[in-house]
Amino acid sequence: MVTNRELGKTRLPLWAGGFVVLICVAILGLSVWREWETHNADLRNAEIDVANLAHSLVQHADDTFELADTILVGLVHRLELDGTGPDTIAKLQTYLPTRKSSDRIRGIFVYDETGRWLATTEHVDFSRLNNSDREYFRQHRDSPAKNTLIGRPIKSRAGGQWIITASRRINHPDGSFAGVALLTIDVAYFAKFYERFDVGSNGSASLLNDAGIMLARSHDETSAFIGRDLSNTPLFREWKSRPAAAIYYFKSPLDGVQRLSYYQRSSRYPLMVLASKSQDDVLAPWRRAAAVRTAFVLGLVVLIAVIGFYLVRQLWQRQRMAQALVANEAHFRLLAEQSSDMVSRIGLDNRLLYVSPSCVRIIGWSPEELLGTSAVAGIHADDMERVEQAIASLKNDEAEEARFVYRQRHRDKGDIWAEAALHVTRASDSGEVDGVVAVVRDMTEQKDLQDKLASLATTDGLTGLANRRAFDERLAEEWARARRDGTQISLLLIDVDHFKKFNDHYGHQAGDGCLRALGRILSAQAKRPADLAARYGGEEFAVLLPNTGPDGCAEVGEEIREALHDLAMLHAQNPPSRLVTASIGAATSLPSQTALDCNTLVAGADRALYAAKDSGRDRMVMSGQVVPWPAKSA
Ligand code: GH3
Ligand code: MG
Ligand code: MG
Repeated sequence: MVTNRELGKTRLPLWAGGFVVLICVAILGLSVWREWETHNADLRNAEIDVANLAHSLVQHADDTFELADTILVGLVHRLELDGTGPDTIAKLQTYLPTRKSSDRIRGIFVYDETGRWLATTEHVDFSRLNNSDREYFRQHRDSPAKNTLIGRPIKSRAGGQWIITASRRINHPDGSFAGVALLTIDVAYFAKFYERFDVGSNGSASLLNDAGIMLARSHDETSAFIGRDLSNTPLFREWKSRPAAAIYYFKSPLDGVQRLSYYQRSSRYPLMVLASKSQDDVLAPWRRAAAVRTAFVLGLVVLIAVIGFYLVRQLWQRQRMAQALVANEAHFRLLAEQSSDMVSRIGLDNRLLYVSPSCVRIIGWSPEELLGTSAVAGIHADDMERVEQAIASLKNDEAEEARFVYRQRHRDKGDIWAEAALHVTRASDSGEVDGVVAVVRDMTEQKDLQDKLASLATTDGLTGLANRRAFDERLAEEWARARRDGTQISLLLIDVDHFKKFNDHYGHQAGDGCLRALGRILSAQAKRPADLAARYGGEEFAVLLPNTGPDGCAEVGEEIREALHDLAMLHAQNPPSRLVTASIGAATSLPSQTALDCNTLVAGADRALYAAKDSGRDRMVMSGQVVPWPAKSA
């Protein structure tokens, strides 16, 4: 079983991809979180700013109205004690301007119970002016309450500008209504004071009374907001249930701008201060910085994602390649290990790096015993040079492959014939030759068969001598050599006498035996390495004697004849000896004649053989002469 891991198939690219995605998501998440925090922190800071501003403004409003209150309380107290007689009023007229020392106070007025002006700090002719129609006047006349009343903003009768009124009822000693003391404060005073605080172009600071009427507002050059009734706005609708001071987010009903604000009610007067900033103004710097930071982070994430993508793809491709390699290696190992041939890998130092298990069968050694040993160990000394040359030419990059047959020592069986096919291997990166792969096959059986076939093709089955074909080839070769070297060449043609009769008399098998015996004599007489005894056809034989002159040839012929006699095989039908005899025709070609065809030599010997037969058999005739057999046994 091959597991996924062994095949190089792991989940690494998946993990790496997941990791890259995680990093990207983490960076984006952190960035969003950080921006959200910064956004909130900026809002918190702005809230603190507007809260601080509201505290200051409430304090300022309280101080202003307390000053007004103090003046009014003193004035009313004085009038109630001294009454409103002409003397008192005259004194008052000189006393009032001293009270208007602060720039907060626009004017101080005293009206009698009919609304007539009694005294004022304004330099106007007020003899005919009457303020009984004013709301504060009616309120004081109709209510015995002695507190200071802060009224709505109104346009001053004295100067025409917007003012806020603070008024107090004056009583007669009997408690009946005696008039009203009034103090006015310029709305512009508040507006001017509020301008000092930076709340941004869309921010505002407002002073309202608890009925929701706008008393003063910053950035109100045209006085468009003064006197506006905001009692229907959400802030005032739930006025009772709201805390005295709080952060308040709203969309302004006046200019439609989304604002964050802090409102604070005065603890002493029915007043409220609302300090607000535009949310867009507050967040503008954050928005700009966040846009830059986000662009940077997005760029970074895209960069990481792109690099991650390429790395993961690379990893994935490498893994696929490794997988393919492992699978290939498994295939090739299987092929090598199942092959009946011995597959081996040879390093540049001629050592075996790998040997397939077939080596046990082919050369008798196990792979473990062979690993690391010399690849040419056990090669027959005669083949060694050839094999080493072949391997060297492969390693020197002179050839891609080599094939040769050689002898190799088997551990137990001695030398075997082997055929090797060698291929160079190259390093996958550099392409340099890094070794040789050899596939070795046991060729012993084939080699034996081949040798056998070769000998079958050239030998005669009955006698074991060369056959006619081999004889013809050798004759042509030796003839050519003799011609080249200028040497003599001789030929003997031997024919058994009356052999037909021998067969008829003793049977064919005995005839075969006789031919075999003659064959043995001939091969014994062909002593020199170049001599060749052959069966020329039927009961006719030939002995080729290269580099042999007529004398030597005659000598060999005679020895053959004698040896046959010595064998003394009975042949009743062959008088006079009654033994098996043969007639021999001999011919020698001299150097001067070698220009002629080799058939002339055969023809010469053949003629001599006929001559031997004709002249009585059992003798040798040299071409051109007859060598009679001395009648030794006759
Ligand atoms: P001569 O003295 O004139 O040579 O007479 P011969 O009978 O020997 O000559 P011939 O050519 O008439 O006969 C040859 C005989 O040799 C014929 C054949 O039966 C016999 N013969 C040829 N080849 C073989 C063989 O392989 N085995 C056997 N037993 N006999 C063979
Ligand atoms: Mg014959
Ligand atoms: Mg014969």
